[in-house]
Amino acid sequence: MSERANAFYSSLITHHFSTAFMEESFLDGRVRVLLGDITGQNVDAIVNAANSTLLGGGGVDGAIHRAGGAQILEECREIRRTRLPDGLPTGEAVMTNGGLLAARYVIHTVGPIYGRHGGREAEQLARCYQNSLRLAAESNLASIAFPSISTGAFGYPRAEAARVSSRAVADFLKGETSISEVRLIFFQPSDLKVFIESHKFDNREQGKVDASSG
Ligand code: ADP
Repeated sequence: MSERANAFYSSLITHHFSTAFMEESFLDGRVRVLLGDITGQNVDAIVNAANSTLLGGGGVDGAIHRAGGAQILEECREIRRTRLPDGLPTGEAVMTNGGLLAARYVIHTVGPIYGRHGGREAEQLARCYQNSLRLAAESNLASIAFPSISTGAFGYPRAEAARVSSRAVADFLKGETSISEVRLIFFQPSDLKVFIESHKFDNREQGKVDASSG
């Protein structure tokens, strides 16, 4: 094997072993934090980090529409036509069908663009999580998966976002709710690592869970 091929395969192996066990749970197992692709999550609803047009975009938005098919976009168009002619405001959320996805529903929310909200970014990011959870609970859903809203193209610093999102989820779960599982999905190992180092969930001591368990 050439040196380059060797380096490639050993990096694959390192990647596999460094990420295979990267899942942690918090709040008595009601929150699971893991590496993965949100489009494949088997939950009642997945959340889309959309933009205000609701008509698709890059990043996780593009991935969800590609995997979910045209039915999701059709419902987004209908929502724009009937309820939101000016688009979905930052921090708000709407729910559509899940098209071809394993998830029955997609909850679309618009995260803040970092540096464009006059210091109210944290409040807006928290509202994304709260409003998405509220919508899911209003439909009596039990499980929901979030991507790391605003930390891609919208430039929100990951450690700060981890503090905001974990506080918002923990606050919501303090109340009476139908939701028994919140998954926070990270696409890159480094994003997951920053989250694990920065979140504000209480029970840090709760052990690592083998990602292959479920
Ligand atoms: P935003 O515009 O809100 O920043 P992005 O889609 O650019 O949204 O990025 C949000 C996060 O979603 C980033 O951490 C990115 O790596 C992640 N992401 C991209 N594709 C997927 C996917 N298929 N599943 C889960 N997370 C994803």
